[in-house]
Amino acid sequence: MPAPPPSLPLPLEVLNTVFGYQSFHPLQGKVIEHVLAGRDALVLMPTGGGKSLCFQVPALCREGLTLVISPLVALMKDQVEALKANGVAAAFLNSTQTAAEAESVNAEIAAGTLKLLYVSPERLFSGSAVRLQDWKVSLVAVDEAHCISFWGHDFRPEYTKLGQLRALLPGVPLIALTATADPAIRRDILAQLTIDEEAVFQESFDRPNLHLAVLPGQKRLERIADFLAKRPGQAGIVYCLSRAGTEDLAASLSKKGHKARAYHAGMNTQDRSAVQEAFLKDDIDIVCATVAFGMGIDKSNVRWVIHYNLPKNLEGFYQEIGRAGRDGLPSDTLLFYSYADVANQLKFLEEANADRRELLAAKLERMKQYAEAQICRRRILLSYFGETPEADCGHCDVCENPPETFDGTVTAQKLLSAVYRTGGRATLRQCALILRGSHALEVTEPGWHDLKTFGAGKELRFEEWMEYGSQVVNAGYLSVAYDKGMSLQLTSLAGPVLKGEKTVALTKFRSFEEKKAATAVKAKTAATSDGDPDLFEVLKVVRKKLADEHEVPAYVIFSDKTLKDMAAKLPRTPAEFRQVHGVGEAKLEHYGSIFLKAIGEWEAGRA
Ligand code: ADP
Ligand code: ZN
Repeated sequence: MPAPPPSLPLPLEVLNTVFGYQSFHPLQGKVIEHVLAGRDALVLMPTGGGKSLCFQVPALCREGLTLVISPLVALMKDQVEALKANGVAAAFLNSTQTAAEAESVNAEIAAGTLKLLYVSPERLFSGSAVRLQDWKVSLVAVDEAHCISFWGHDFRPEYTKLGQLRALLPGVPLIALTATADPAIRRDILAQLTIDEEAVFQESFDRPNLHLAVLPGQKRLERIADFLAKRPGQAGIVYCLSRAGTEDLAASLSKKGHKARAYHAGMNTQDRSAVQEAFLKDDIDIVCATVAFGMGIDKSNVRWVIHYNLPKNLEGFYQEIGRAGRDGLPSDTLLFYSYADVANQLKFLEEANADRRELLAAKLERMKQYAEAQICRRRILLSYFGETPEADCGHCDVCENPPETFDGTVTAQKLLSAVYRTGGRATLRQCALILRGSHALEVTEPGWHDLKTFGAGKELRFEEWMEYGSQVVNAGYLSVAYDKGMSLQLTSLAGPVLKGEKTVALTKFRSFEEKKAATAVKAKTAATSDGDPDLFEVLKVVRKKLADEHEVPAYVIFSDKTLKDMAAKLPRTPAEFRQVHGVGEAKLEHYGSIFLKAIGEWEAGRA
């Protein structure tokens, strides 16, 4: 077989010499082969699945320029930085640049020295299309391709122009990539970008390293404090619904001694990028953010993600929790759930476009099902993405502590009669207080202490009534009138229960402490050894120093996984260093001696 020309390396060589990895993930290999054969592809992989290499490797195996369309202006700089650290000629064009910076990128394009160009769709279509044809484009990659679809949670109208690229660049293969695989969105991407159904490469969306858990929304702050106490110094994100929420939480956590900052779209660009940089550089551990945060965050060592409020759909939720554990190491996710959050989301729905409202309501319903699940939560997530796992995951709170049911007919009857006697004017909280026989103002003022059901449920604690009350609502015997101060209403199913014609199964209440014990991370250990944790800390300091010097995020230097592999392999020579996961030739050359020295000193210190 004739050897390929030296300027065009083979994919595996690129993977090894440039990126420092030993082998492709199974689907990556297939996609790359397919794209290098000059064909289009749609790649559906979960966050952290390794989508970038699917176009970055082909870009380096071909002549000409690979155009990467991305909506994430904030991410471009870091992606380009990461490529440059590996010795790849990459650049970006977007609205954040000065005219001079853009000019110098244009000069590189004209000179034909660039291999990868990241560009926002606005920028792409603002220049003259003629220019695009002069760019010697050999591959187009459309990242975050779900933005093209009206059915997606992140629809961007300017993305719908990307179909024009097919006519502007005839014969140039196009690869679209996304971490959202809702069937309607997938069809939409294929249609708009004219990609064949046979060109779809889909990987399981399962992220087994993510632990899934949900807790009721009471005493959130205390629960977060407990959670953090067990995870000192770990990087994490708390997603909140409102801007004020992010600021309050960041302030509370800071007061407790955590390195936390708020991030939301109401802050100015400068403050926002300062928070983002600080997080990327490990200067702060926690970001309390609205969903505005994270699209641009390509940080591999985020160890946990908490949702302080219920998100509006599973796509967004999955993408947000997917920001944890991109390095494949065990990571935690925690969602707080309350009716107040549902009410808030419903309020947003009312403000939505009439033609989208039904769709959004259906999506919110799926989100609620996840939060209220009595079966393996991963099943619910994966089924949303069209997958049917064979077995329960064993790595979510429901699997770890399967619910026990009992005949709760009497309990349900008591609650239903309290609702009946208050004439549908009481909230769940008020009903619980009535049943407990409380003389709180919110009970006595409406005169409910005179009701027959007053004090009829003293055998259960207040929190037990709250929990069973939600279950009775979820089972459909009661509805919550979101438009009437969240008061409870009997449904048509309630009658037979009150008359004793129907029994109600409830799930045994578990206190927060019991749930917490069950949720305690049973870390699924990674297959590889992590090496000495002290050395890992030493190497992190070295990395931090280099990152500050080069003004790049820490992960651009090396991922946590690389540092752990280094601590495990204890390389002594450049050749050994090159064997470490994630060390390619450029990184060996730039950082090899510095890390080898640190490892040598650490070993000497122990001898
Ligand atoms: P995605 O874009 O799908 O969220 P990335 O492309 O950012 O994921 O990849 C996630 C992480 O996995 C990155 O740190 C990347 O370098 C690493 N990675 C990707 N492919 C491989 C591979 N074949 N071997 C080892 N690590 C890989
Ligand atoms: Zn499970």
